[in-house]
Amino acid sequence: MTDVLMSTYNPLPISIERGEGAWVWDTQGKKYLDAFAGIAVTSLGHCHPAIVKHLQEQVTKVIHSSNILTVPEQHALAKKLTQISGMEQVFFANSGAEANECAIKLARMYGHNKKISNPTIVVMEGAFHGRTLATITASGNRRVQAGFEPLVQGFLRAPYNDLDALRAIAKNAQNVVAIMVEPVQGEGGVRAADDNYLPEVRKICDENGWLMILDEIQTGMGRTGKWFAFQYHDFKPDILTSAKALGNGLPISACLVHGKADNLFKPGNHGSTFGGNPLCCSTALKVIETLEQENALANAKEVGAYLLAQLQDALLSIKGVIAVRGKGLLIGIELDRPCRDLLAMSAEQGVLISTTAEKVVRLVPPLIITKEQTDLIVNVLARVIPQFLQ
Ligand code: PLP
Repeated sequence: MTDVLMSTYNPLPISIERGEGAWVWDTQGKKYLDAFAGIAVTSLGHCHPAIVKHLQEQVTKVIHSSNILTVPEQHALAKKLTQISGMEQVFFANSGAEANECAIKLARMYGHNKKISNPTIVVMEGAFHGRTLATITASGNRRVQAGFEPLVQGFLRAPYNDLDALRAIAKNAQNVVAIMVEPVQGEGGVRAADDNYLPEVRKICDENGWLMILDEIQTGMGRTGKWFAFQYHDFKPDILTSAKALGNGLPISACLVHGKADNLFKPGNHGSTFGGNPLCCSTALKVIETLEQENALANAKEVGAYLLAQLQDALLSIKGVIAVRGKGLLIGIELDRPCRDLLAMSAEQGVLISTTAEKVVRLVPPLIITKEQTDLIVNVLARVIPQFLQ
């Protein structure tokens, strides 16, 4: 049979028919605990009653209007997002890559306004920022770039967590306008910034008149226990990107700015047909309000710390397990070998997981998951990982 889908993925033969909270059922009726939430997307779990009710009401009112008109739902969501982030202005798009494209364009515009005609953005080894041409260039992984050359100009790469490398760039490089960085490299294997790294990056940006762009597409919206991971520190980025859990499954992303990144675009500089539509914006606002009502951030912090400790206890003594690390409900288990086969082994035992960076099992369950439910994840992984490593 000719496959009618381009083979960009290599999916497991499991199809989800319905879900409820952290549980899903496949088309054969088998039940699973969802420990990857559609790759850090369905933070409120599946079919949360408040979101279902809101969606049912909103689709009977209006789904799409246009950015040619005023969209009140955009204003309401932007107001809420600026409140929870401390940022000042927002552009809405449909995916993480698009939010990052917006950030990259803003940084270039900032450079051009300063008469830098060849603006350069410093990006990190191991980074992942998306699949458009500019964002694969910004990503620090040859596998996402190979075959798509020529890549986009205007990026300079530095090792992650290496402040001296950034200081050397500040001394020697011309035309730098921004540093773009993730607080935890999710696709890069759940690798967190060192404690002092982000505040020092902020300082380096300030000393050199550069913008600090934080990609919180995976870490944001409560995943690490705060709305955004930078809020564990006492600084703000100039540009912040968010997507994934923002719409709990509806495609919406946001690029937020603050301070010297405000007001860089003028009408006609940037846009999106679907971006900021009433359905996605009103739902994202309902998602944020529901995360607040559910106390989901505190849960992510508490259950995340519990799950991490349980996993460390159960797995670290196993030969072949290199590290168990994470922040909130973004947890990685690094093994000594490629581990994609674990997806099916774990699914067979009733737990859906994801893997990343080849050798890392990544757990990004819904933020409303309970301690009892995470016990099932630990039990299953404590069984299948040793089997797999044998
Ligand atoms: N940035 C980060 C940190 C991500 O983790 C991802 C997706 O995994 C993206 C950007 C790209 O987002 P999207 O797939 O929605 O374009």
